[in-house]
Amino acid sequence: MALKMEKSKELFEEAKKYLVGGVNSPVRYFKPYPFFVEKAKDCYLFDVDGNKYIDYCLAYGPMVLGHANENIIKAVKEQLELGTAYGCPTEKEIILAKEVVKRVPCAEMVRFVNSGTEATMSAIRLARGVTGRKKIIKFDGAYHGAHDYVLVKSGSGALTHGTPNSPGIPEETTKNTILVPFNDEDAIKKAINENKDEIACVIVEPVMGNVGCILPKEGYLEFLREITEENDILLIFDEVITGFRLAKGGAQEYFGVVPDIATLGKILGGGFPIGAIVGKKEIMEQFSPLGAIYQAGTFNGNPISITAGIATLEQLDDKFYRETSRTAKILSDTLRDLVDRYNINAKVYNIASMFQIYFNENEVLNYEIAKMSDVERFMKYFWGLLERGVFVPPSQFECCFTSIKHDDEVIDKTIKAMEDVFKELE
Ligand SMILES: *Cc1c(COP(=O)(O)O)cnc(C)c1O
Repeated sequence: MALKMEKSKELFEEAKKYLVGGVNSPVRYFKPYPFFVEKAKDCYLFDVDGNKYIDYCLAYGPMVLGHANENIIKAVKEQLELGTAYGCPTEKEIILAKEVVKRVPCAEMVRFVNSGTEATMSAIRLARGVTGRKKIIKFDGAYHGAHDYVLVKSGSGALTHGTPNSPGIPEETTKNTILVPFNDEDAIKKAINENKDEIACVIVEPVMGNVGCILPKEGYLEFLREITEENDILLIFDEVITGFRLAKGGAQEYFGVVPDIATLGKILGGGFPIGAIVGKKEIMEQFSPLGAIYQAGTFNGNPISITAGIATLEQLDDKFYRETSRTAKILSDTLRDLVDRYNINAKVYNIASMFQIYFNENEVLNYEIAKMSDVERFMKYFWGLLERGVFVPPSQFECCFTSIKHDDEVIDKTIKAMEDVFKELE
């Protein structure tokens, strides 16, 4: 290996003694061991061996302004002095909620929680409570966090490590979760017809960001909106990745399709833990204390995450969307050119600041096709880039992101690294 990674290796050996698999989230592990981070600034990660990487993982999405953003640091420092958890409401929660409502089309009211996982878990409970129905429809390969209702054929870490269905989840819990392939109109029609008046909600990642980057076919999200409306089923957009990313109002603004409920996270916390459930007023008001559907959390709406969220949204202006989309497109075009030039079996997908290459000869429209990708070749690509100072997420089934700090100079360096890696890919 060309990279110097001795210190990371040592730390990994030590970590393994105390932390399961040496990591606290499975996606962070890759063979033979991950690099350990010392610090991060702008678009760079610095590891304990003195390596510097251009970061396209960006903590799996949140760091759209780059690492250690000055405005966020300043705001959070000020808030630290004022206390970090009160168990009482604050004005800042109103400020952030108003900003969310202003941006996200379906959002009339907000409930802040601590993670995307909590957001989708509570959103599903809300949908079940409101409709009085048990069943939910989920897409193969969609990831909605690590809770029991949705850990069936989930993407990302579970798929990478070969366990898309987790043991420890009783069949009784998931028998009400109906799986359908993404981008397939007949499959969901059939599922709805076979379960008439039993389905509470359809939960969907409008762009599937946890099996790479799978785009909805033209008209597919509109179709989901129509068929759910016709059958009195609630439509939940899981916008934990796409929220504030595809556009100010997320995928629902970008595609012009408004769900009943949406879940948010990642970008919303500016690098701190957060999640949110948003939706129409009459639905949201069914949550406790107004309604009977229980949802609670000691750290819900905690002042640190809320402060970082406010400082983040303030900086997501038109220029942010223009620039991050522009740089992600340049890199995607570069990869497509290289795929052609070296005659590699691969497909490249890109939307706004998201992109991914699949080493796959087919158009990747769903999970089953994504799974046929050549993951070994992907890991070659991954290591090739890492050795040249470019860090993309270490899995074929993740998505790359650009931040506002990936400027032209950084993009040029990345292009050079990609060109070198492709020479070795055969
Ligand atoms: C990351 C993610 C989640 C889970 O969010 P956490 O904050 O990691 O719990 C849920 N849904 C989607 C689409 C995600 O990408």
